[in-house]
Amino acid sequence: MLYHMSCALCMSSKTLLLRSQSAVPLFSAGQVIFRNNPPSASAMSKDTLHSKIKTAEVVTAHPEPQNGGALDTRPVKKRENYISWEEYFMSVAFLSAQRSKDPSSQVGACIVDEENKIVGIGYNGMPTGCSDDELPWAREGLYLETKYPYVVHAEQNAIMNRNAASLKNCIVYVGLFPCNECAKLCIQAGIKEIVFVSDKYKDQEVFIASRRLLDMAGIKYRQFIPRSRSIVLNFDVIDPALFAAQT
Ligand SMILES: [Zn+2]
Repeated sequence: MLYHMSCALCMSSKTLLLRSQSAVPLFSAGQVIFRNNPPSASAMSKDTLHSKIKTAEVVTAHPEPQNGGALDTRPVKKRENYISWEEYFMSVAFLSAQRSKDPSSQVGACIVDEENKIVGIGYNGMPTGCSDDELPWAREGLYLETKYPYVVHAEQNAIMNRNAASLKNCIVYVGLFPCNECAKLCIQAGIKEIVFVSDKYKDQEVFIASRRLLDMAGIKYRQFIPRSRSIVLNFDVIDPALFAAQT
């Protein structure tokens, strides 16, 4: 079976025609199928190839089943199981959190503007130039020997890492409800809304103070309710052969 993409006349012959050698469809959308079974690309000049394409009868269809069944002529529709904008932004925050060296708390933040463009990403970590091997990561003990005086929070890093001139009216997606210090920065940066996953420290004073500040400043906050418990990244999804030799 031979496939070619729409607008194929501008492509090289190498790109133009592909032989399907597996049961996995080569293209998920916009594919067309030759019914007159033209010869292989390598056996045709480019002009001949273009001529064949112009005269070939093409239909938009699913690839012919490998079991020799009837041609499926149903229209090819878009994917339905793509992630939502909110799942995307919160996933970016959670992926960013995986960069954190903090052994007890990994938090990520993703700031998004009014056009759904990501304008800042951050995670909790020690300040630039301050060794995360030398500074303490403990949660308890003498204050100066804990992480608290030193760690930059995810929201703070996301704000400082911004790639936009202004964060006015942006939304921040973050794993944990922001502390009072992060709330102050969000307010001053002009962020209009905070979307969080967990508010597990809500009874601690810094988070009570945070809510007090956000309420006074009129900044909305709401919990993110995921549709599923996890979103999985598989590096071989684009090429299943990538790890085939290892299994
Ligand atoms: Zn904070």
